[in-house]
Amino acid sequence: MINSRLNMDQVLTQALDERKRQHLYRQRPTIQSPQSSTIDIDGRSYLAFCSNDYLGLANHPDLITAAQAATERFGTGSGASHLVCGHSSEHHALEEELAAFTGRDRAILFSSGYMANVGTINALVGKNDAVFEDKLNHASLLDGGLLSGARFQRFLHNDVESLSKKLTASDAERKLIVVDSVFSMDGDLAPLPELAQLAEQHNAWLMADDAHAFGCLGATGAGSAEYFDLSQQQLPILMGTLGKAAGSYGAFVAGSEALIETLIQQARPYIYTTAIPPAVAAASRAALRLIQREGWRREHLQSLIARFRAGATQLGLQLMDSQTAIQPVLVGSSEDTMTVAESLKQQGIWVGAIRPPTVPAGSARLRITLSASHSEEQVDYLLQALAGCPGLQGNQSC
Ligand SMILES: *Cc1c(COP(=O)(O)O)cnc(C)c1O
Repeated sequence: MINSRLNMDQVLTQALDERKRQHLYRQRPTIQSPQSSTIDIDGRSYLAFCSNDYLGLANHPDLITAAQAATERFGTGSGASHLVCGHSSEHHALEEELAAFTGRDRAILFSSGYMANVGTINALVGKNDAVFEDKLNHASLLDGGLLSGARFQRFLHNDVESLSKKLTASDAERKLIVVDSVFSMDGDLAPLPELAQLAEQHNAWLMADDAHAFGCLGATGAGSAEYFDLSQQQLPILMGTLGKAAGSYGAFVAGSEALIETLIQQARPYIYTTAIPPAVAAASRAALRLIQREGWRREHLQSLIARFRAGATQLGLQLMDSQTAIQPVLVGSSEDTMTVAESLKQQGIWVGAIRPPTVPAGSARLRITLSASHSEEQVDYLLQALAGCPGLQGNQSC
């Protein structure tokens, strides 16, 4: 080289090396099996406590059959965006079923939850407006808020008082409050009834992201609106995803006619992307039927959650305030979290090691997720393995 200027790969490699030094380097395990209570990775079978397949539907024969039949009928690709000619009768039927299930006037299907969040927030607010987000909101909600050009304000996690002060001080034209209904890395619930009240007082609009609530919360699995009994007026913007408990892929927003029409007209990640394959929509429709019909999945999941929490508490593990399928075990440093996850791997268990920036610095954790596909014995085995891990319970020896 003529001078000390670094080329692109050298610059990038330096940054990657720094990431490795901080134990923040991420790698993608390659899965060689369907999602179920066990998964195959690198030729070995692991007990899996890491997926968001909370009801065990991702490999259900009804979904597979529905996808196969729709593939026979519609082929593989949707061929175009919804507004051009990619909106099939499967997509349309799914939207109608989602609206009926969530008790909303209408629903619109997005190609992913990330796109639904970015698209919805950007269609609803812009310059002169303000968006209020919980500090622990999912990245897609934060990105949507930042991109919108609206005044971006974060309030303390689940702190209604903190939000109330910010709303009072705001003179924005439109005010949009946005939260995860179940927080993705902590598993706790947003105080949606209080937030709905506050929204009404301040003439603000409330949006809830049901990515981890849809299918799991509520008597029939319809999500946070059903769980808290919130009407469309109280919770006007209900977003949910179909790639988690529904075992399929895609996302939706449900609400009023005016909301859904606005999204069709204005949401750029809706307009400028190819519709998901009709077969994927068909699989989601099959999932909706199972979610509603097979309440035992939610009951079994709840009993596993209670079993895990009782066992982990006995072991002195640091649990979080979560009654949902997301049961993080707080470790602290990224390095220790990786060590514990590695030790579990050696015992045949795969869990997510979640590090900054996904969670705040110093709060790295194991993100243990339970599913209706797990047995009690599998949960007991997990507890037994955790009991023998270094770095948990402040006990450094294995
Ligand atoms: C997973 C997730 C999303 C994104 O949904 P995808 O369909 O995977 O893009 C959005 N919000 C929350 C809270 C999530 O956990």
